[in-house]
Amino acid sequence: MKYAILSDIHSNLAAFEAVLADLKARGGVDELWCLGDVIGYGPDPHECIQLLRSQRHLCVAGNHDWAAIGNIDTSYFNLEAAAACRWTASKLTQDDILYLRSLPLILQRGDFTLVHGSPREPIWEYILSKDKALDNFAYFDTRFCFVGHSHSPFVFELDRNICIPQFLGRNLLLKQNRLVINCGGVGQPRDYDARASYAILDTEEGLLQHYRVGYDIFKTQQKMIDAHLPFDLISRLSVGC
Ligand code: ZN
Repeated sequence: MKYAILSDIHSNLAAFEAVLADLKARGGVDELWCLGDVIGYGPDPHECIQLLRSQRHLCVAGNHDWAAIGNIDTSYFNLEAAAACRWTASKLTQDDILYLRSLPLILQRGDFTLVHGSPREPIWEYILSKDKALDNFAYFDTRFCFVGHSHSPFVFELDRNICIPQFLGRNLLLKQNRLVINCGGVGQPRDYDARASYAILDTEEGLLQHYRVGYDIFKTQQKMIDAHLPFDLISRLSVGC
């Protein structure tokens, strides 16, 4: 089976559409696995939820998904994120809200756990250091765990009791060692590469292939200007940070 691993679409329809077009050009997948933050920051929350729901998919909840439906308080957000969250909430339909409410915090499929932040703290924790990654291996039972939230591609490998950080390259062969994997962000990459980031998992081959996809950044930015979304959120898309 083949799965597309997507995370942090963040209401960026142009980026999401570009990723889906790229996926199609590569022969498609059986299912999308979305690691949360479908909305927040960007200009097309309703459209991104609709497009995701039009695909065969699984999705877990992210902090922005929860904040927009009032499950968590935006006082934990910075000012720009909180402003975008209020705007996002005003754009959701009742059906969007019901869908977001239905999202689980954590999912398990075969050898894979799917979660937004971390298995220990699905909504809030960022796994950005090997110490955090090492702690988190105790909080999931499968061999592999896909996470999002940091919008940066990386891999943490557990070799005996040592956690080894790695960059997520183009091809990652899944072997015996347990891994925490982040495939980067679709709608707001933060690794200084402005292109959308995602991966295709082939469970028969035991192979994860990581891709970057250029998209019409200006189209998203123009919509954000028209919606009076915060300037910092608009400008960061150009640099991917
Ligand atoms: Zn996010």
